[in-house]
Amino acid sequence: MSAIQKIRGFQDIYGKDAKKYRYIVDTARKIFNRYNFEEIILPFLEDVSLFKRSVGEATDIVQKEMYVFTDKGGREVALRPEGTASAVRAYIENKMYAEGGYKKLFYEGAMFRYERPQAGRYRQFHQIGAEIFGVDSPMADAELIRMVKDLLDSLNIQATLEINSLGSFEDRKTYISELKNFLNEKKEFLCETCQKRIETNPLRVLDCKVEGCKEATKDAPVLIDYLSQSSKERYEKLKEYLRQLDVDFIENPRLVRGLDYYTDTVFEFTTDKIGAQGTVAAGGRYDNLVEQLGGPKTPALGFAAGIERLMLLVDELPEEQKLVVVVPINQDFNSEALKVSHKLRAENLKAETVLKEGSLKSKMKLANKLGGSFVVFVSEKLELKDMATGEQELFENVEDLIDTLKDRL
Ligand code: ATP
Ligand code: MG
Repeated sequence: MSAIQKIRGFQDIYGKDAKKYRYIVDTARKIFNRYNFEEIILPFLEDVSLFKRSVGEATDIVQKEMYVFTDKGGREVALRPEGTASAVRAYIENKMYAEGGYKKLFYEGAMFRYERPQAGRYRQFHQIGAEIFGVDSPMADAELIRMVKDLLDSLNIQATLEINSLGSFEDRKTYISELKNFLNEKKEFLCETCQKRIETNPLRVLDCKVEGCKEATKDAPVLIDYLSQSSKERYEKLKEYLRQLDVDFIENPRLVRGLDYYTDTVFEFTTDKIGAQGTVAAGGRYDNLVEQLGGPKTPALGFAAGIERLMLLVDELPEEQKLVVVVPINQDFNSEALKVSHKLRAENLKAETVLKEGSLKSKMKLANKLGGSFVVFVSEKLELKDMATGEQELFENVEDLIDTLKDRL
Protein backbone atom coordinates (compact mmCIF):
# COMPACT_ATOMS: atom_id res chain seq x y z
CA MET A 1 0.00 0.00 0.00
CA SER A 2 1.26 3.46 -0.77
CA ALA A 3 1.85 5.66 2.24
CA ILE A 4 -0.33 8.71 2.76
CA GLN A 5 1.42 12.03 2.35
CA LYS A 6 0.80 15.42 3.85
CA ILE A 7 -1.32 17.94 1.97
CA ARG A 8 0.45 20.37 -0.36
CA GLY A 9 1.53 23.52 1.42
CA PHE A 10 1.39 21.87 4.86
CA GLN A 11 4.47 20.85 6.86
CA ASP A 12 5.70 18.63 9.65
CA ILE A 13 7.92 20.73 11.87
CA TYR A 14 10.26 18.47 13.84
CA GLY A 15 13.83 17.99 15.05
CA LYS A 16 15.93 21.16 14.97
CA ASP A 17 13.10 23.09 13.27
CA ALA A 18 10.72 22.35 16.12
CA LYS A 19 13.38 23.61 18.54
CA LYS A 20 13.72 26.80 16.52
CA TYR A 21 9.96 27.24 16.45
CA ARG A 22 9.73 26.86 20.22
CA TYR A 23 12.75 29.11 20.82
CA ILE A 24 11.18 31.89 18.71
CA VAL A 25 7.82 31.64 20.47
CA ASP A 26 9.42 31.48 23.93
CA THR A 27 11.56 34.52 23.14
CA ALA A 28 8.52 36.44 21.88
CA ARG A 29 6.55 35.54 25.01
CA LYS A 30 9.34 36.79 27.23
CA ILE A 31 9.60 40.09 25.37
CA PHE A 32 5.84 40.70 25.07
CA ASN A 33 5.56 39.99 28.77
CA ARG A 34 8.12 42.73 29.46
CA TYR A 35 5.81 45.13 27.64
CA ASN A 36 2.90 43.82 29.71
CA PHE A 37 0.88 42.22 26.88
CA GLU A 38 -1.62 39.49 27.84
CA GLU A 39 -1.94 36.29 25.84
CA ILE A 40 -5.17 35.46 24.04
CA ILE A 41 -5.80 32.00 22.59
CA LEU A 42 -8.11 32.43 19.62
CA PRO A 43 -10.26 29.92 17.72
CA PHE A 44 -9.11 28.51 14.39
CA LEU A 45 -12.56 28.73 12.81
CA GLU A 46 -14.57 31.90 12.48
CA ASP A 47 -17.67 33.00 10.66
CA VAL A 48 -16.62 33.84 7.07
CA SER A 49 -18.20 37.26 7.28
CA LEU A 50 -15.71 38.29 9.98
CA PHE A 51 -12.91 38.27 7.41
CA LYS A 52 -15.03 39.74 4.64
CA ARG A 53 -15.90 42.69 6.85
CA SER A 54 -12.37 43.27 8.18
CA VAL A 55 -9.65 42.06 5.82
CA GLY A 56 -11.85 43.25 2.93
CA GLU A 57 -13.94 41.77 0.11
CA ALA A 58 -11.51 42.91 -2.59
CA THR A 59 -8.31 41.57 -1.01
CA ASP A 60 -6.40 38.52 -2.27
CA ILE A 61 -6.91 36.86 1.09
CA VAL A 62 -10.71 36.96 0.92
CA GLN A 63 -11.06 36.52 -2.82
CA LYS A 64 -8.62 33.68 -3.39
CA GLU A 65 -6.86 32.42 -0.32
CA MET A 66 -9.37 31.49 2.37
CA TYR A 67 -10.25 27.94 3.33
CA VAL A 68 -14.02 28.23 3.49
CA PHE A 69 -16.55 25.48 4.08
CA THR A 70 -20.00 24.80 5.42
CA ASP A 71 -20.01 22.91 8.72
CA LYS A 72 -22.53 20.23 9.69
CA GLY A 73 -24.81 22.88 11.17
CA GLY A 74 -24.91 24.76 7.88
CA ARG A 75 -22.64 27.61 9.04
CA GLU A 76 -20.31 29.24 6.52
CA VAL A 77 -16.96 29.10 8.33
CA ALA A 78 -13.35 29.91 7.45
CA LEU A 79 -10.04 28.71 8.81
CA ARG A 80 -8.50 31.93 10.05
CA PRO A 81 -6.14 33.51 7.50
CA GLU A 82 -4.80 36.01 10.05
CA GLY A 83 -5.17 36.93 13.72
CA THR A 84 -6.22 40.56 13.94
CA ALA A 85 -9.83 40.05 12.85
CA SER A 86 -10.32 37.38 15.53
CA ALA A 87 -8.60 39.49 18.18
CA VAL A 88 -10.93 42.40 17.39
CA ARG A 89 -13.97 40.15 17.43
CA ALA A 90 -12.88 38.75 20.81
CA TYR A 91 -12.24 42.25 22.16
CA ILE A 92 -15.77 43.29 21.25
CA GLU A 93 -17.55 40.05 22.13
CA ASN A 94 -15.94 39.83 25.57
CA LYS A 95 -16.52 43.54 26.23
CA MET A 96 -12.85 44.22 26.86
CA TYR A 97 -13.65 47.84 25.99
CA ALA A 98 -15.55 48.14 29.27
CA GLU A 99 -12.74 49.60 31.40
CA GLY A 100 -11.82 52.53 29.19
CA GLY A 101 -10.98 50.39 26.22
CA TYR A 102 -7.28 50.01 26.90
CA LYS A 103 -6.05 46.49 26.25
CA LYS A 104 -2.83 44.88 25.04
CA LEU A 105 -3.09 41.34 23.66
CA PHE A 106 -0.76 38.90 21.95
CA TYR A 107 -1.41 35.60 20.19
CA GLU A 108 0.51 32.81 18.52
CA GLY A 109 -0.54 29.99 16.23
CA ALA A 110 -1.48 28.57 12.86
CA MET A 111 -2.99 30.59 10.00
CA PHE A 112 -4.29 29.21 6.71
CA ARG A 113 -4.10 30.70 3.23
CA TYR A 114 -4.51 28.88 -0.06
CA GLU A 115 -1.45 30.39 -1.75
CA ARG A 116 1.14 28.96 -4.10
CA PRO A 117 3.58 27.14 -1.80
CA GLN A 118 7.27 28.05 -2.07
CA ALA A 119 10.20 28.67 0.28
CA GLY A 120 8.86 30.80 3.14
CA ARG A 121 5.26 30.54 1.89
CA TYR A 122 2.95 27.77 3.03
CA ARG A 123 -0.76 27.07 3.23
CA GLN A 124 -0.57 26.49 6.94
CA PHE A 125 1.89 28.88 8.51
CA HIS A 126 2.32 30.34 11.96
CA GLN A 127 2.32 33.83 13.29
CA ILE A 128 3.05 35.63 16.50
CA GLY A 129 1.21 38.89 16.74
CA ALA A 130 0.16 41.60 19.15
CA GLU A 131 -2.57 44.22 19.25
CA ILE A 132 -3.02 47.41 21.26
CA PHE A 133 -6.58 48.68 21.71
CA GLY A 134 -7.81 52.04 22.90
CA VAL A 135 -4.75 54.20 22.27
CA ASP A 136 -4.71 57.02 19.80
CA SER A 137 -1.24 58.40 20.47
CA PRO A 138 1.61 57.58 18.07
CA MET A 139 3.54 56.69 21.24
CA ALA A 140 1.78 53.34 20.91
CA ASP A 141 2.89 52.91 17.28
CA ALA A 142 6.48 53.64 18.27
CA GLU A 143 6.45 51.32 21.24
CA LEU A 144 4.87 48.48 19.26
CA ILE A 145 7.51 48.82 16.55
CA ARG A 146 10.24 48.94 19.22
CA MET A 147 8.86 45.70 20.64
CA VAL A 148 9.09 43.96 17.24
CA LYS A 149 12.64 45.24 16.96
CA ASP A 150 13.43 43.86 20.43
CA LEU A 151 12.21 40.47 19.25
CA LEU A 152 14.33 40.54 16.09
CA ASP A 153 17.36 41.74 18.08
CA SER A 154 16.97 38.93 20.62
CA LEU A 155 16.85 36.42 17.79
CA ASN A 156 19.92 38.05 16.25
CA ILE A 157 18.02 38.88 13.05
CA GLN A 158 18.92 41.95 11.01
CA ALA A 159 15.98 43.39 9.14
CA THR A 160 15.16 46.74 7.57
CA LEU A 161 12.17 48.65 8.87
CA GLU A 162 10.04 50.44 6.28
CA ILE A 163 7.27 52.77 7.35
CA ASN A 164 4.55 54.75 5.64
CA SER A 165 1.32 56.51 6.48
CA LEU A 166 -1.91 55.66 4.68
CA GLY A 167 -3.84 58.49 6.29
CA SER A 168 -7.53 58.19 7.07
CA PHE A 169 -10.12 56.51 4.85
CA GLU A 170 -11.18 60.05 3.83
CA ASP A 171 -7.65 61.08 2.74
CA ARG A 172 -7.35 57.86 0.85
CA LYS A 173 -10.60 58.37 -1.08
CA THR A 174 -9.28 61.51 -2.76
CA TYR A 175 -5.96 59.88 -3.41
CA ILE A 176 -7.48 56.70 -4.82
CA SER A 177 -9.52 58.59 -7.40
CA GLU A 178 -6.36 60.44 -8.52
CA LEU A 179 -4.46 57.16 -8.59
CA LYS A 180 -7.18 55.49 -10.67
CA ASN A 181 -6.96 58.29 -13.24
CA PHE A 182 -3.21 57.85 -13.40
CA LEU A 183 -3.42 54.04 -13.68
CA ASN A 184 -6.07 54.15 -16.38
CA GLU A 185 -3.69 56.24 -18.48
CA LYS A 186 -1.00 53.59 -18.01
CA LYS A 187 -3.33 50.63 -18.28
CA GLU A 188 -1.74 49.03 -21.36
CA PHE A 189 1.63 48.75 -19.54
CA LEU A 190 0.23 46.95 -16.50
CA CYS A 191 0.07 43.19 -15.92
CA GLU A 192 -3.32 41.51 -16.26
CA THR A 193 -3.87 41.28 -12.50
CA CYS A 194 -3.09 44.96 -12.03
CA GLN A 195 -5.42 45.97 -14.86
CA LYS A 196 -8.21 44.42 -12.82
CA ARG A 197 -6.88 45.95 -9.61
CA ILE A 198 -7.40 49.48 -10.98
CA GLU A 199 -11.06 49.08 -10.09
CA THR A 200 -10.94 46.61 -7.20
CA ASN A 201 -7.78 47.48 -5.26
CA PRO A 202 -5.70 50.21 -6.96
CA LEU A 203 -3.33 50.69 -4.00
CA ARG A 204 -2.12 47.15 -4.45
CA VAL A 205 -0.85 48.01 -7.96
CA LEU A 206 1.84 50.10 -6.30
CA ASP A 207 3.44 47.09 -4.73
CA CYS A 208 3.16 44.69 -7.63
CA LYS A 209 6.44 42.85 -8.14
CA VAL A 210 6.17 42.72 -11.97
CA GLU A 211 8.89 44.88 -13.61
CA GLY A 212 6.51 46.44 -16.15
CA CYS A 213 4.16 47.55 -13.40
CA LYS A 214 7.00 48.98 -11.34
CA GLU A 215 8.22 50.98 -14.35
CA ALA A 216 4.73 52.19 -15.33
CA THR A 217 3.93 53.44 -11.83
CA LYS A 218 7.26 55.18 -11.18
CA ASP A 219 5.66 58.62 -11.30
CA ALA A 220 2.34 57.70 -9.74
CA PRO A 221 0.91 60.22 -7.28
CA VAL A 222 2.14 59.62 -3.74
CA LEU A 223 -0.31 59.10 -0.91
CA ILE A 224 1.68 61.14 1.54
CA ASP A 225 0.87 64.32 -0.43
CA TYR A 226 -2.85 63.70 0.21
CA LEU A 227 -2.69 63.26 3.98
CA SER A 228 -4.66 65.55 6.25
CA GLN A 229 -2.80 67.85 8.63
CA SER A 230 -3.49 65.59 11.60
CA SER A 231 -2.24 62.47 9.80
CA LYS A 232 0.89 64.30 8.74
CA GLU A 233 1.54 65.42 12.32
CA ARG A 234 0.98 61.93 13.63
CA TYR A 235 3.47 60.57 11.12
CA GLU A 236 6.07 63.18 12.10
CA LYS A 237 5.59 62.31 15.78
CA LEU A 238 6.02 58.63 15.04
CA LYS A 239 9.34 59.31 13.35
CA GLU A 240 10.48 61.44 16.30
CA TYR A 241 9.58 58.69 18.80
CA LEU A 242 11.26 55.98 16.73
CA ARG A 243 14.49 58.00 16.65
CA GLN A 244 14.19 58.47 20.40
CA LEU A 245 13.93 54.67 20.80
CA ASP A 246 16.96 54.04 18.53
CA VAL A 247 14.90 52.37 15.83
CA ASP A 248 16.31 52.94 12.34
CA PHE A 249 13.76 53.15 9.53
CA ILE A 250 13.31 53.89 5.85
CA GLU A 251 10.30 55.80 4.59
CA ASN A 252 8.64 53.93 1.75
CA PRO A 253 5.78 55.99 0.26
CA ARG A 254 4.62 52.93 -1.70
CA LEU A 255 4.18 50.63 1.23
CA VAL A 256 0.47 49.79 1.28
CA ARG A 257 0.01 46.28 2.81
CA GLY A 258 -2.51 43.77 1.51
CA LEU A 259 -5.34 44.26 3.99
CA ASP A 260 -8.04 46.91 3.80
CA TYR A 261 -8.33 47.80 7.44
CA TYR A 262 -5.19 49.87 7.88
CA THR A 263 -5.24 53.62 8.56
CA ASP A 264 -2.28 55.95 9.14
CA THR A 265 0.80 54.00 10.25
CA VAL A 266 1.88 50.90 8.31
CA PHE A 267 5.23 49.14 8.65
CA GLU A 268 7.19 46.12 7.51
CA PHE A 269 10.44 44.53 8.59
CA THR A 270 12.12 42.97 5.56
CA THR A 271 15.32 41.10 4.80
CA ASP A 272 17.04 40.09 1.58
CA LYS A 273 18.51 36.93 3.12
CA ILE A 274 15.62 34.55 2.50
CA GLY A 275 14.76 35.14 -1.14
CA ALA A 276 11.60 36.65 -2.50
CA GLN A 277 9.45 36.16 0.62
CA GLY A 278 11.41 38.75 2.54
CA THR A 279 8.82 40.28 4.87
CA VAL A 280 9.30 38.85 8.34
CA ALA A 281 6.94 41.07 10.32
CA ALA A 282 4.34 43.63 9.36
CA GLY A 283 1.57 45.69 10.85
CA GLY A 284 -0.05 49.02 11.33
CA ARG A 285 -2.92 51.02 12.73
CA TYR A 286 -6.58 50.16 12.15
CA ASP A 287 -8.55 52.92 13.86
CA ASN A 288 -11.90 52.06 12.23
CA LEU A 289 -11.91 48.31 12.54
CA VAL A 290 -13.40 47.88 16.01
CA GLU A 291 -16.35 50.07 15.07
CA GLN A 292 -16.64 48.43 11.66
CA LEU A 293 -17.06 45.04 13.38
CA GLY A 294 -19.79 46.34 15.66
CA GLY A 295 -17.85 47.60 18.67
CA PRO A 296 -17.52 51.12 20.08
CA LYS A 297 -15.21 53.49 18.22
CA THR A 298 -11.75 52.41 19.44
CA PRO A 299 -8.38 53.26 17.92
CA ALA A 300 -6.11 50.23 17.64
CA LEU A 301 -2.98 48.86 16.05
CA GLY A 302 -1.01 45.64 15.78
CA PHE A 303 1.50 43.51 13.96
CA ALA A 304 2.19 39.90 13.03
CA ALA A 305 5.44 38.08 12.35
CA GLY A 306 5.74 34.90 10.28
CA ILE A 307 7.36 32.22 12.41
CA GLU A 308 8.55 30.11 9.44
CA ARG A 309 10.33 33.14 7.99
CA LEU A 310 11.96 33.88 11.34
CA MET A 311 13.03 30.22 11.47
CA LEU A 312 14.91 30.68 8.18
CA LEU A 313 16.88 33.47 9.82
CA VAL A 314 17.69 31.86 13.16
CA ASP A 315 20.74 29.66 13.00
CA GLU A 316 21.99 29.49 16.55
CA LEU A 317 19.92 27.91 19.25
CA PRO A 318 20.67 28.42 22.93
CA GLU A 319 22.65 25.63 24.53
CA GLU A 320 20.51 22.77 25.77
CA GLN A 321 20.75 20.96 29.05
CA LYS A 322 23.28 18.11 28.84
CA LEU A 323 22.01 14.55 28.65
CA VAL A 324 22.85 11.60 30.91
CA VAL A 325 22.18 8.19 29.33
CA VAL A 326 21.46 5.36 31.75
CA VAL A 327 22.32 1.81 30.63
CA PRO A 328 21.50 -1.40 32.57
CA ILE A 329 24.41 -3.73 31.73
CA ASN A 330 21.97 -6.66 31.54
CA GLN A 331 18.32 -7.28 32.26
CA ASP A 332 18.92 -8.08 35.92
CA PHE A 333 19.51 -4.37 36.38
CA ASN A 334 16.56 -3.01 34.36
CA SER A 335 14.55 -2.05 37.40
CA GLU A 336 17.57 -0.44 39.10
CA ALA A 337 18.28 1.55 35.92
CA LEU A 338 14.69 2.83 35.77
CA LYS A 339 15.06 3.99 39.36
CA VAL A 340 18.39 5.74 38.71
CA SER A 341 16.89 7.72 35.79
CA HIS A 342 13.85 8.56 37.89
CA LYS A 343 16.07 9.96 40.66
CA LEU A 344 18.18 11.99 38.23
CA ARG A 345 15.06 13.59 36.77
CA ALA A 346 13.72 14.32 40.24
CA GLU A 347 16.91 16.39 40.69
CA ASN A 348 16.16 18.26 37.42
CA LEU A 349 18.83 16.44 35.45
CA LYS A 350 18.05 15.37 31.89
CA ALA A 351 18.20 11.58 31.72
CA GLU A 352 17.36 8.97 29.14
CA THR A 353 17.18 5.28 29.98
CA VAL A 354 18.22 2.92 27.22
CA LEU A 355 14.88 1.15 27.01
CA LYS A 356 15.92 -1.38 24.41
CA GLU A 357 16.80 -4.82 25.65
CA GLY A 358 19.61 -6.82 24.04
CA SER A 359 23.37 -7.09 24.13
CA LEU A 360 25.41 -4.49 25.99
CA LYS A 361 27.06 -3.74 22.67
CA SER A 362 23.76 -2.84 20.98
CA LYS A 363 22.78 -0.72 23.98
CA MET A 364 26.12 1.12 23.81
CA LYS A 365 25.47 1.81 20.15
CA LEU A 366 22.14 3.40 20.98
CA ALA A 367 23.69 5.33 23.89
CA ASN A 368 26.26 6.79 21.49
CA LYS A 369 23.59 7.73 19.01
CA LEU A 370 21.61 9.57 21.68
CA GLY A 371 24.62 11.82 22.13
CA GLY A 372 24.71 11.92 25.93
CA SER A 373 27.46 13.88 27.65
CA PHE A 374 27.60 11.16 30.29
CA VAL A 375 26.67 7.50 30.37
CA VAL A 376 25.87 5.63 33.59
CA PHE A 377 26.28 1.85 33.51
CA VAL A 378 24.07 0.23 36.09
CA SER A 379 25.16 -3.03 37.74
CA GLU A 380 25.87 -3.72 41.44
CA LYS A 381 27.63 -0.41 41.23
CA LEU A 382 27.16 2.71 39.15
CA GLU A 383 29.86 3.51 36.65
CA LEU A 384 29.89 7.01 35.25
CA LYS A 385 31.59 7.63 31.93
CA ASP A 386 32.39 11.14 30.74
CA MET A 387 31.90 10.87 26.97
CA ALA A 388 34.10 13.88 26.23
CA THR A 389 37.19 12.66 28.10
CA GLY A 390 36.52 8.92 28.32
CA GLU A 391 37.18 9.07 32.09
CA GLN A 392 35.34 6.56 34.24
CA GLU A 393 34.40 6.66 37.91
CA LEU A 394 32.62 4.20 40.24
CA PHE A 395 29.86 5.07 42.71
CA GLU A 396 28.31 3.01 45.50
CA ASN A 397 25.02 4.93 45.54
CA VAL A 398 22.95 7.22 43.34
CA GLU A 399 23.18 10.21 45.74
CA ASP A 400 26.96 10.44 45.30
CA LEU A 401 26.53 10.05 41.55
CA ILE A 402 24.05 12.92 41.48
CA ASP A 403 26.39 15.19 43.48
CA THR A 404 29.19 14.55 40.99
CA LEU A 405 26.94 15.06 37.96
CA LYS A 406 25.65 18.35 39.34
CA ASP A 407 29.24 19.55 39.72
CA ARG A 408 30.12 18.60 36.18
CA LEU A 409 27.02 19.56 34.17
P1 ATP B 1 3.38 38.58 1.87
O1 ATP B 1 3.56 39.90 1.23
O2 ATP B 1 4.67 37.85 2.13
O3 ATP B 1 2.34 37.72 1.22
P2 ATP B 1 1.37 39.49 3.68
O4 ATP B 1 1.36 40.93 3.45
O5 ATP B 1 0.34 38.64 3.03
O6 ATP B 1 2.83 38.89 3.32
P3 ATP B 1 0.54 39.59 6.46
O7 ATP B 1 -0.84 39.18 6.19
O8 ATP B 1 0.81 40.96 6.87
O9 ATP B 1 1.47 39.18 5.22
O10 ATP B 1 1.19 38.59 7.52
C1 ATP B 1 2.30 38.95 8.34
C2 ATP B 1 3.47 38.01 8.14
O11 ATP B 1 3.07 36.65 8.10
C3 ATP B 1 4.20 38.19 6.83
O12 ATP B 1 5.07 39.25 6.90
C4 ATP B 1 4.93 36.87 6.70
O13 ATP B 1 6.11 36.86 7.49
C5 ATP B 1 3.95 35.89 7.27
N1 ATP B 1 3.20 35.21 6.20
C6 ATP B 1 2.13 35.69 5.49
N2 ATP B 1 1.69 34.77 4.61
C7 ATP B 1 2.49 33.67 4.77
C8 ATP B 1 2.54 32.36 4.17
N3 ATP B 1 1.66 31.98 3.23
N4 ATP B 1 3.50 31.50 4.57
C9 ATP B 1 4.40 31.86 5.53
N5 ATP B 1 4.39 33.05 6.14
C10 ATP B 1 3.46 33.95 5.77
MG1 MG C 1 0.26 37.57 1.22
